[in-house]
Amino acid sequence: MTKNKYADLHVHTFYSDSTFSPLDVVSCAKERGLAAIAICDHDTVDGIDPCMAIGLEKGVEIIPGIEMSVEKMDAEIHILGYFIDWKQEWLRKKLKEIQDSRVERLFVMIDKLKAAGVNIEAEDVFKISVNKGSVGRLHVAKAMLGSGAIKNLREAFDKYIGFAKPCYVPYTKLSPQETMKLILKAGGVPVIAHPKLMGNDEHIDEFVGYGLRGLEVYHTDHKPNISKRYEKIAKELGLLMTGGSDCHGMGKGRILMGTVRVPYELVEKLKEEADKIRDDPSTHFVCSGS
Ligand code: AMP
Ligand code: FE
Ligand code: FE
Ligand code: ZN
Repeated sequence: MTKNKYADLHVHTFYSDSTFSPLDVVSCAKERGLAAIAICDHDTVDGIDPCMAIGLEKGVEIIPGIEMSVEKMDAEIHILGYFIDWKQEWLRKKLKEIQDSRVERLFVMIDKLKAAGVNIEAEDVFKISVNKGSVGRLHVAKAMLGSGAIKNLREAFDKYIGFAKPCYVPYTKLSPQETMKLILKAGGVPVIAHPKLMGNDEHIDEFVGYGLRGLEVYHTDHKPNISKRYEKIAKELGLLMTGGSDCHGMGKGRILMGTVRVPYELVEKLKEEADKIRDDPSTHFVCSGS
Protein backbone atom coordinates (compact mmCIF):
# COMPACT_ATOMS: atom_id res chain seq x y z
CA MET A 1 0.00 0.00 0.00
CA THR A 2 1.46 3.32 -0.98
CA LYS A 3 -1.71 5.38 -0.49
CA ASN A 4 -1.35 8.30 1.91
CA LYS A 5 2.37 7.82 2.05
CA TYR A 6 4.52 10.87 1.38
CA ALA A 7 8.14 11.65 0.75
CA ASP A 8 10.23 14.81 1.13
CA LEU A 9 12.82 14.41 -1.60
CA HIS A 10 15.29 17.15 -0.61
CA VAL A 11 16.80 17.08 2.87
CA HIS A 12 20.25 18.11 4.15
CA THR A 13 22.23 17.01 7.23
CA PHE A 14 25.12 18.62 9.11
CA TYR A 15 27.51 16.78 6.79
CA SER A 16 26.78 19.73 4.51
CA ASP A 17 24.93 22.88 5.52
CA SER A 18 22.03 21.77 7.74
CA THR A 19 22.13 22.21 11.50
CA PHE A 20 20.51 18.76 11.88
CA SER A 21 22.37 15.57 12.78
CA PRO A 22 21.16 12.31 11.21
CA LEU A 23 19.18 11.63 14.40
CA ASP A 24 17.52 15.08 14.21
CA VAL A 25 16.72 14.58 10.52
CA VAL A 26 15.13 11.14 10.87
CA SER A 27 13.28 12.01 14.10
CA CYS A 28 11.84 15.10 12.45
CA ALA A 29 10.75 13.10 9.39
CA LYS A 30 9.06 10.58 11.68
CA GLU A 31 7.28 13.29 13.69
CA ARG A 32 6.05 14.87 10.50
CA GLY A 33 4.60 11.59 9.24
CA LEU A 34 6.88 11.11 6.25
CA ALA A 35 7.31 7.60 4.87
CA ALA A 36 10.53 8.48 3.08
CA ILE A 37 13.11 11.25 2.79
CA ALA A 38 15.96 11.74 0.34
CA ILE A 39 19.26 12.78 1.88
CA CYS A 40 20.74 15.16 -0.68
CA ASP A 41 23.76 16.81 0.89
CA HIS A 42 26.02 19.09 -1.14
CA ASP A 43 28.90 17.02 -2.58
CA THR A 44 28.92 14.42 0.19
CA VAL A 45 27.31 11.05 0.87
CA ASP A 46 28.56 10.81 4.46
CA GLY A 47 25.13 11.44 5.98
CA ILE A 48 23.47 8.53 4.20
CA ASP A 49 24.68 5.54 6.26
CA PRO A 50 23.95 7.14 9.66
CA CYS A 51 20.48 8.24 8.47
CA MET A 52 19.77 4.76 7.12
CA ALA A 53 20.73 3.11 10.41
CA ILE A 54 18.36 5.39 12.34
CA GLY A 55 15.72 5.20 9.59
CA LEU A 56 15.64 1.43 9.94
CA GLU A 57 14.92 1.74 13.67
CA LYS A 58 12.27 4.43 13.28
CA GLY A 59 10.60 3.12 10.14
CA VAL A 60 11.54 5.99 7.81
CA GLU A 61 12.87 5.02 4.39
CA ILE A 62 16.08 6.83 3.46
CA ILE A 63 16.67 7.46 -0.22
CA PRO A 64 20.36 7.92 -0.96
CA GLY A 65 20.93 11.16 -2.84
CA ILE A 66 23.29 14.01 -3.52
CA GLU A 67 23.16 17.66 -4.63
CA MET A 68 25.90 19.02 -6.88
CA SER A 69 26.41 22.50 -8.30
CA VAL A 70 27.29 23.43 -11.85
CA GLU A 71 27.87 26.78 -13.47
CA LYS A 72 26.91 28.38 -16.74
CA MET A 73 27.99 31.88 -17.74
CA ASP A 74 24.71 33.32 -16.53
CA ALA A 75 23.53 30.76 -14.00
CA GLU A 76 24.14 28.62 -10.96
CA ILE A 77 22.43 25.25 -11.34
CA HIS A 78 22.03 22.50 -8.73
CA ILE A 79 21.60 18.88 -9.78
CA LEU A 80 20.14 16.21 -7.53
CA GLY A 81 21.03 12.53 -7.97
CA TYR A 82 18.50 10.06 -6.54
CA PHE A 83 19.34 6.46 -5.62
CA ILE A 84 23.02 7.12 -6.12
CA ASP A 85 25.21 4.12 -5.19
CA TRP A 86 26.87 5.97 -2.32
CA LYS A 87 29.26 3.16 -1.39
CA GLN A 88 31.41 3.35 -4.50
CA GLU A 89 35.05 4.14 -3.72
CA TRP A 90 35.72 6.15 -6.87
CA LEU A 91 32.72 8.33 -6.05
CA ARG A 92 33.88 9.02 -2.50
CA LYS A 93 37.34 9.89 -3.79
CA LYS A 94 35.91 12.31 -6.34
CA LEU A 95 33.65 13.90 -3.74
CA LYS A 96 36.62 14.35 -1.39
CA GLU A 97 38.38 16.32 -4.14
CA ILE A 98 35.30 18.50 -4.54
CA GLN A 99 35.08 19.04 -0.76
CA ASP A 100 38.73 20.13 -0.82
CA SER A 101 37.98 22.63 -3.56
CA ARG A 102 35.21 24.01 -1.32
CA VAL A 103 37.85 24.72 1.34
CA GLU A 104 40.15 26.43 -1.19
CA ARG A 105 37.22 28.49 -2.36
CA LEU A 106 36.40 29.47 1.20
CA PHE A 107 39.79 31.18 1.59
CA VAL A 108 39.32 33.08 -1.69
CA MET A 109 35.82 34.13 -0.58
CA ILE A 110 37.15 35.37 2.73
CA ASP A 111 39.79 37.51 0.99
CA LYS A 112 37.12 39.02 -1.20
CA LEU A 113 34.85 39.65 1.78
CA LYS A 114 37.71 41.34 3.64
CA ALA A 115 38.35 43.56 0.63
CA ALA A 116 34.65 44.44 0.75
CA GLY A 117 34.96 45.36 4.44
CA VAL A 118 33.53 42.17 5.95
CA ASN A 119 35.99 40.75 8.45
CA ILE A 120 35.45 37.08 9.07
CA GLU A 121 38.05 34.33 9.42
CA ALA A 122 38.06 30.79 8.04
CA GLU A 123 38.10 29.51 11.62
CA ASP A 124 34.74 31.22 12.31
CA VAL A 125 33.27 29.36 9.33
CA PHE A 126 34.77 25.98 10.28
CA LYS A 127 33.31 26.33 13.77
CA ILE A 128 29.86 26.78 12.25
CA SER A 129 30.22 23.97 9.73
CA VAL A 130 31.56 21.74 12.52
CA ASN A 131 34.00 20.83 9.76
CA LYS A 132 32.01 17.66 9.07
CA GLY A 133 32.18 17.59 5.30
CA SER A 134 31.09 20.17 2.76
CA VAL A 135 31.78 23.70 3.90
CA GLY A 136 29.73 26.24 1.99
CA ARG A 137 28.14 29.61 1.61
CA LEU A 138 25.39 29.08 4.17
CA HIS A 139 28.13 28.63 6.78
CA VAL A 140 29.87 31.77 5.49
CA ALA A 141 26.60 33.70 5.66
CA LYS A 142 26.15 32.64 9.28
CA ALA A 143 29.67 33.74 10.15
CA MET A 144 28.90 37.09 8.51
CA LEU A 145 25.74 37.37 10.60
CA GLY A 146 27.75 36.55 13.72
CA SER A 147 30.26 39.29 12.92
CA GLY A 148 27.46 41.85 12.67
CA ALA A 149 28.31 42.64 9.03
CA ILE A 150 24.78 41.87 7.87
CA LYS A 151 21.29 41.89 9.41
CA ASN A 152 20.01 38.63 7.96
CA LEU A 153 21.21 35.70 5.86
CA ARG A 154 19.48 36.95 2.77
CA GLU A 155 21.58 40.10 2.83
CA ALA A 156 24.75 37.97 2.67
CA PHE A 157 23.60 36.44 -0.61
CA ASP A 158 21.95 39.54 -2.08
CA LYS A 159 24.93 41.82 -1.44
CA TYR A 160 28.01 39.62 -1.29
CA ILE A 161 28.07 35.88 -1.98
CA GLY A 162 25.04 35.15 -4.17
CA PHE A 163 25.71 34.14 -7.79
CA ALA A 164 27.52 36.95 -9.70
CA LYS A 165 27.72 39.17 -6.60
CA PRO A 166 31.09 40.78 -5.78
CA CYS A 167 32.32 38.09 -3.39
CA TYR A 168 30.87 35.08 -5.21
CA VAL A 169 33.44 32.37 -5.90
CA PRO A 170 32.62 29.12 -7.72
CA TYR A 171 34.17 25.90 -6.49
CA THR A 172 33.28 23.29 -9.04
CA LYS A 173 35.87 22.32 -11.60
CA LEU A 174 33.50 19.94 -13.36
CA SER A 175 31.49 20.99 -16.40
CA PRO A 176 27.73 20.43 -16.49
CA GLN A 177 28.26 17.38 -18.72
CA GLU A 178 30.93 15.90 -16.44
CA THR A 179 28.68 16.37 -13.41
CA MET A 180 25.78 14.66 -15.15
CA LYS A 181 28.08 11.79 -16.20
CA LEU A 182 29.31 11.37 -12.65
CA ILE A 183 25.77 11.12 -11.26
CA LEU A 184 24.73 8.63 -13.96
CA LYS A 185 27.88 6.55 -13.51
CA ALA A 186 27.06 6.31 -9.81
CA GLY A 187 23.59 5.05 -10.76
CA GLY A 188 21.84 8.27 -9.70
CA VAL A 189 18.73 9.69 -11.35
CA PRO A 190 19.66 13.27 -12.29
CA VAL A 191 17.07 15.97 -11.56
CA ILE A 192 17.50 19.77 -11.70
CA ALA A 193 16.97 21.13 -8.17
CA HIS A 194 14.82 24.26 -7.68
CA PRO A 195 15.06 25.17 -11.41
CA LYS A 196 13.91 28.73 -10.67
CA LEU A 197 17.41 29.42 -9.29
CA MET A 198 18.83 29.08 -12.84
CA GLY A 199 16.95 32.16 -13.95
CA ASN A 200 16.98 30.83 -17.50
CA ASP A 201 14.87 27.83 -18.48
CA GLU A 202 16.69 27.50 -21.78
CA HIS A 203 19.44 25.55 -20.01
CA ILE A 204 17.07 22.65 -19.36
CA ASP A 205 17.40 21.31 -22.92
CA GLU A 206 21.17 21.01 -22.62
CA PHE A 207 20.78 18.85 -19.49
CA VAL A 208 18.16 16.69 -21.22
CA GLY A 209 20.85 16.02 -23.83
CA TYR A 210 23.14 14.77 -21.05
CA GLY A 211 20.51 12.38 -19.63
CA LEU A 212 18.41 14.52 -17.27
CA ARG A 213 15.39 12.60 -15.91
CA GLY A 214 13.43 15.17 -13.90
CA LEU A 215 12.76 18.66 -12.57
CA GLU A 216 12.22 19.55 -8.92
CA VAL A 217 8.90 21.18 -9.71
CA TYR A 218 7.78 21.53 -6.07
CA HIS A 219 10.20 23.36 -3.78
CA THR A 220 10.07 25.82 -0.88
CA ASP A 221 11.25 28.64 -3.17
CA HIS A 222 8.63 27.89 -5.85
CA LYS A 223 5.33 29.75 -5.57
CA PRO A 224 2.37 27.91 -7.19
CA ASN A 225 2.71 29.79 -10.49
CA ILE A 226 6.40 28.80 -10.70
CA SER A 227 5.56 25.14 -10.02
CA LYS A 228 2.91 25.35 -12.78
CA ARG A 229 5.53 26.63 -15.20
CA TYR A 230 7.85 23.72 -14.45
CA GLU A 231 5.00 21.19 -14.52
CA LYS A 232 4.34 22.32 -18.07
CA ILE A 233 7.99 22.12 -19.10
CA ALA A 234 8.41 18.69 -17.46
CA LYS A 235 5.35 17.36 -19.27
CA GLU A 236 6.56 18.71 -22.61
CA LEU A 237 9.98 17.13 -22.16
CA GLY A 238 8.75 13.86 -20.61
CA LEU A 239 10.58 14.50 -17.31
CA LEU A 240 9.62 13.32 -13.83
CA MET A 241 8.22 15.98 -11.49
CA THR A 242 9.88 15.73 -8.09
CA GLY A 243 9.53 17.84 -4.96
CA GLY A 244 11.17 18.52 -1.65
CA SER A 245 11.51 21.12 1.09
CA ASP A 246 15.32 21.60 0.97
CA CYS A 247 15.26 21.39 4.78
CA HIS A 248 18.48 22.71 6.36
CA GLY A 249 17.36 22.08 9.96
CA MET A 250 17.32 25.52 11.58
CA GLY A 251 19.74 26.72 8.88
CA LYS A 252 17.08 28.73 7.09
CA GLY A 253 15.32 30.04 10.17
CA ARG A 254 12.53 27.47 10.36
CA ILE A 255 12.32 23.73 9.99
CA LEU A 256 11.07 23.04 6.48
CA MET A 257 10.93 19.23 6.60
CA GLY A 258 7.72 17.92 5.06
CA THR A 259 6.38 21.36 4.10
CA VAL A 260 6.93 20.24 0.53
CA ARG A 261 6.23 16.58 -0.08
CA VAL A 262 5.21 14.28 -2.91
CA PRO A 263 3.16 11.07 -3.05
CA TYR A 264 5.22 7.92 -2.45
CA GLU A 265 4.38 6.69 -5.98
CA LEU A 266 7.04 9.09 -7.21
CA VAL A 267 9.67 7.27 -5.16
CA GLU A 268 8.70 4.08 -6.99
CA LYS A 269 9.04 5.85 -10.34
CA LEU A 270 12.49 7.12 -9.37
CA LYS A 271 13.51 3.59 -8.35
CA GLU A 272 12.39 2.27 -11.75
CA GLU A 273 14.37 5.00 -13.46
CA ALA A 274 17.46 4.18 -11.37
CA ASP A 275 17.17 0.52 -12.45
CA LYS A 276 17.05 1.60 -16.08
CA ILE A 277 20.14 3.77 -15.64
CA ARG A 278 22.05 0.86 -14.10
CA ASP A 279 21.04 -1.44 -16.95
CA ASP A 280 22.08 1.09 -19.60
CA PRO A 281 25.65 0.31 -20.73
CA SER A 282 26.20 3.90 -21.89
CA THR A 283 26.08 5.20 -18.31
CA HIS A 284 29.08 2.99 -17.34
CA PHE A 285 27.50 2.15 -14.00
CA VAL A 286 29.87 0.16 -11.78
CA CYS A 287 28.48 -1.89 -8.89
CA SER A 288 30.03 -1.16 -5.50
CA GLY A 289 32.59 -3.78 -4.74
CA SER A 290 33.29 -4.54 -8.42
P1 AMP B 1 27.38 26.36 -1.85
O1 AMP B 1 27.00 24.92 -2.04
O2 AMP B 1 28.47 26.55 -0.86
O3 AMP B 1 27.66 27.09 -3.14
O4 AMP B 1 26.13 27.06 -1.21
C1 AMP B 1 24.84 26.83 -1.70
C2 AMP B 1 23.90 26.92 -0.55
O5 AMP B 1 23.82 28.26 -0.10
C3 AMP B 1 22.47 26.57 -0.90
O6 AMP B 1 22.21 25.21 -0.82
C4 AMP B 1 21.72 27.28 0.17
O7 AMP B 1 21.80 26.53 1.37
C5 AMP B 1 22.52 28.54 0.34
N1 AMP B 1 22.00 29.65 -0.48
C6 AMP B 1 22.29 29.93 -1.76
N2 AMP B 1 21.64 31.06 -2.16
C7 AMP B 1 20.92 31.47 -1.09
C8 AMP B 1 20.06 32.57 -0.83
N3 AMP B 1 19.81 33.50 -1.76
N4 AMP B 1 19.49 32.67 0.39
C9 AMP B 1 19.75 31.74 1.35
N5 AMP B 1 20.56 30.68 1.17
C10 AMP B 1 21.13 30.55 -0.02
FE1 FE C 1 22.37 24.13 1.10
FE1 FE D 1 20.28 23.70 -3.88
ZN1 ZN E 1 19.63 21.68 -1.19
